[in-house]
Amino acid sequence: MSAASRAVTPGHQFASDNTAGVCPEALAALIEANADFAPSYGNDLHTAAVADRLREIFETRCEVFFVFNGTAANSLAVSTCCMPYHSVVCSDAAHLETDECGGPEFFSGGAKILLAPSRNGKLDPAAVEELATRRTDIHFPKPRLLSLTLPTELGGVYSLDELEALGRLAERLRLRVHMDGARFANAVAALGASPAEIVRRGRVDVLCLGGTKIGLPVGEAVVFFDCDLAQEFAYRCKQAGQLASKMRFLTAPWLGILRDGAWLRHAAHANAMARRLSAGLADIPGVKLLHPTEANAVFAALPPAVHQRLVARGWQYYTFIGQGAARFMCCWATTAEDVAALLRDAASAEND
Ligand SMILES: *Cc1c(COP(=O)(O)O)cnc(C)c1O
Repeated sequence: MSAASRAVTPGHQFASDNTAGVCPEALAALIEANADFAPSYGNDLHTAAVADRLREIFETRCEVFFVFNGTAANSLAVSTCCMPYHSVVCSDAAHLETDECGGPEFFSGGAKILLAPSRNGKLDPAAVEELATRRTDIHFPKPRLLSLTLPTELGGVYSLDELEALGRLAERLRLRVHMDGARFANAVAALGASPAEIVRRGRVDVLCLGGTKIGLPVGEAVVFFDCDLAQEFAYRCKQAGQLASKMRFLTAPWLGILRDGAWLRHAAHANAMARRLSAGLADIPGVKLLHPTEANAVFAALPPAVHQRLVARGWQYYTFIGQGAARFMCCWATTAEDVAALLRDAASAEND
């Protein structure tokens, strides 16, 4: 980012990966798309090109839709998979449950969310099976969907084998698979596997592919690998107020980050910054890492003096786990200097 765009809180933004601006590749594509008139509601060349590019990336025929945010993507994807009398199995840390204001339940007309215990946000197949088979009678909403988050809300990344195990389990239990991939790019970078392999191993039917947190101005893609599920999805988007009339401004930035791999370069950079931050924090006496740093999130319990010093110096991060526990998110715009400066301030607190 330019110095000017950072003037308000220079280098102090670890609160979320949606606090950074738009990455240069997305911005350039946005400006290109602004050059002329274009058909509205997604009937433009940019939108068609992104959908084609995603079919290349996922190496399969898939149906692609674009919405404004992740809550809509998840809620509408869930509503497509579930009748009102169905249930969704997800982790107790899932955004679907904790941060969508009941959107999935609302848009599905009543589907119930069943929470499985998780470690680092990851589901354990045995717990999923227990939950999905505990009740089979007509008095309980029928389990229909398994929802996985990759990377998880706690910065965990399922291995390909773990994805395979959950995918196979879902198949055996006749559950469809939804993946909340708000930070999917970070998982691709972390796993070093192709996007196609990741969704294939997890038997993913529908992926909510995040754009905002990886550097777009706004927007997420809903990618259906089971094309039957995509039927009439456009109507759901429209009814939910999620059909952009100037669609090209949602989609052109996607083209900017997808066409030459910028999405994965930025994600790998964010992950590397998180690893650096994690290693540095672990070296500070009294700091305890709470979850392994597998993608672009760092969770740490900070001694009060460290926390107070960082806050006093204007560093921004979430502290929702409890007093002194912190979440730091890295993104495409995080610099090694930002990380070093934060670590310096954290370490200097020892001498307060
Ligand atoms: C950020 C995020 C979303 C999307 O949130 P919106 O604010 O609705 O765009 C979805 N899932 C996860 C795991 C997220 O971190």
